Amino acid sequence: MTADLVVVGAGIVGLAHAYHAVRKGLRVVVIDRDARAVGASVRNFGHCCITVQDGDALHYAQRGRQHWLDVAEAAGFWAREAGTLVVARHEDEWAVLKDLRAARGPDAVQLLDPPAVQRLAPVHETIGGALLPGDLRVDPRAAVPAIAHWLSRQGVTFRWSTAVHAVDKGVVTTSRGPVEARAVVVAVNHDVDRVFPGLAASIKRCSLHMLQIRPHRDISVRPAVLTGHSMLRYAGFGVSPSLAQVRARIARDQPDAAAAGLNLMLTQRPDGDLVIGDTHSYDDVPDVFAREPWDALIINKIRDLLDIGDFDVRYRWQGVYASATDPFLVAQPSPGVHVVSVTSGIGMTTSFGLAADVVDQLSPALAGTPLTEGT
Ligand SMILES: Cc1cc2nc3c(=O)[nH]c(=O)nc-3n(C[C@H](O)[C@H](O)[C@H](O)COP(=O)(O)OP(=O)(O)OC[C@H]3O[C@@H](n4cnc5c(N)ncnc54)[C@H](O)[C@@H]3O)c2cc1C
Repeated sequence: MTADLVVVGAGIVGLAHAYHAVRKGLRVVVIDRDARAVGASVRNFGHCCITVQDGDALHYAQRGRQHWLDVAEAAGFWAREAGTLVVARHEDEWAVLKDLRAARGPDAVQLLDPPAVQRLAPVHETIGGALLPGDLRVDPRAAVPAIAHWLSRQGVTFRWSTAVHAVDKGVVTTSRGPVEARAVVVAVNHDVDRVFPGLAASIKRCSLHMLQIRPHRDISVRPAVLTGHSMLRYAGFGVSPSLAQVRARIARDQPDAAAAGLNLMLTQRPDGDLVIGDTHSYDDVPDVFAREPWDALIINKIRDLLDIGDFDVRYRWQGVYASATDPFLVAQPSPGVHVVSVTSGIGMTTSFGLAADVVDQLSPALAGTPLTEGT
């Protein structure tokens, strides 16, 4: 088999590369070791958390936003311009939101009084909040297979249940034989250090606890909901000097949350269930023994945050993403080979913008390729 571009990995980062390449008329083959995508890309909140990114992440997030909407319409999956609600429950959190608004402007960050916050989400107590209307939400469990299905209808070839062992000089060596390619993008998340050990020696696995709950009564929470814990996780909040107070207060008053790396947040699925989470632990291998106290911590914190009454826990799972000091790993170990990993847990937000940049950079490797008309 030969291709203009081979993409290794059918998670959102690989699919985003296939999306941009097929739009340029390239013959694309996507290879994944599993029979369908089951990695981080289907285990997350589906939150395109655009506004509170910073630096390259903000550029990629903004560049990718319209592509999410376009592919959702073309592939026919649920995507909402629902924004994000950041709930402040302490004065230092409110100060962070005011600084964020000063930095990003009143259109991007709309400050809300407590009744306005409570109209958007059933929170018990709040001193205010911010609506970030530019953010999006998708249902990852539906979106990722829908994108793969749509890409295959655009002519992309998928090779599932096929492990890639090596990439060298235009040949991708797989468990089902070699594939020749003019260019290769390797997008295998945290397993990047298994395929390219020299490139990614410092990669850690970040394991996260997640739960899906069904409240006994109907509730509606249109935006994604972030809290003060989330302020410690997204670089855009770093514009505020008050962030140091948030961090110190959580470390002092909530040592269990600090130890679990809690980012208390939620999104509502199209079926009404709430996806709640999450905790963070870092190691060389995924943390396979899920700690029950961390699930209990998330559940207790959600009860404390939301006035939703009783609920059933319907699913629990762990997700894993690559983590490193830099938020993105983009390397070119040999001509025509790009290794791409989002090493900061924001791949849903940034993948379409990041992939657009990488596919633009592939041009020299593909020079001379006869391009057919884009789809
Ligand atoms: C619990 C959780 C919540 C998150 N929430 C959000 C969120 O709300 N918003 C956001 O922006 N980001 C979020 N993230 C981060 C986001 O999910 C990831 O950054 C993103 O999914 C990474 O995409 P990926 O394609 O690199 O990885 P994956 O989806 O893991 O895909 C990698 C693929 O590579 C394949 N593969 C690996 N090795 C090989 C090989 N040798 N040969 C062939 N195939 C191989 C795997 O089978 C897999 O399908 C979250 C992550 C987790 C875990």
